[in-house]
Amino acid sequence: MDQPTLNNKDWKQKLTPEQYKVLREKGTEAPFTGEYVHTKEKGMYRCAACGNELFSSETKFDSGAGWPSFDEVAGNDKVVLTEDHAHGMNRVEVTCAKCGGHLGHLFDDGPTKTGKRFCINSCALELKKEG
Ligand code: FE
Repeated sequence: MDQPTLNNKDWKQKLTPEQYKVLREKGTEAPFTGEYVHTKEKGMYRCAACGNELFSSETKFDSGAGWPSFDEVAGNDKVVLTEDHAHGMNRVEVTCAKCGGHLGHLFDDGPTKTGKRFCINSCALELKKEG
């Protein structure tokens, strides 16, 4: 697995200020503001920082929560799941396995048969459209 090789200054040059806040400082974009909240186009959502293929559009669903939501990851080696007790909540943090960037959180209240809801910041993703 690749280790992050960029320092904070490099990341600041590569990412927009909002992306830096989310990906490198574990921030959360405001709900219903992201580019991909309602997107239904087919393709692969990749990590906006490193291009790692994270979520297929086939697994995207409308959670109503205001962030792009997926019921499965594109591969078990694509993300790292970590317990997150920040802000007085018990959540599971989702980070990119390739660059370590913060993506969002995983909840166990998904409406589909996987029962999973990957709640991901839109600005941490880049949709590579099919075709
Ligand atoms: Fe990444």
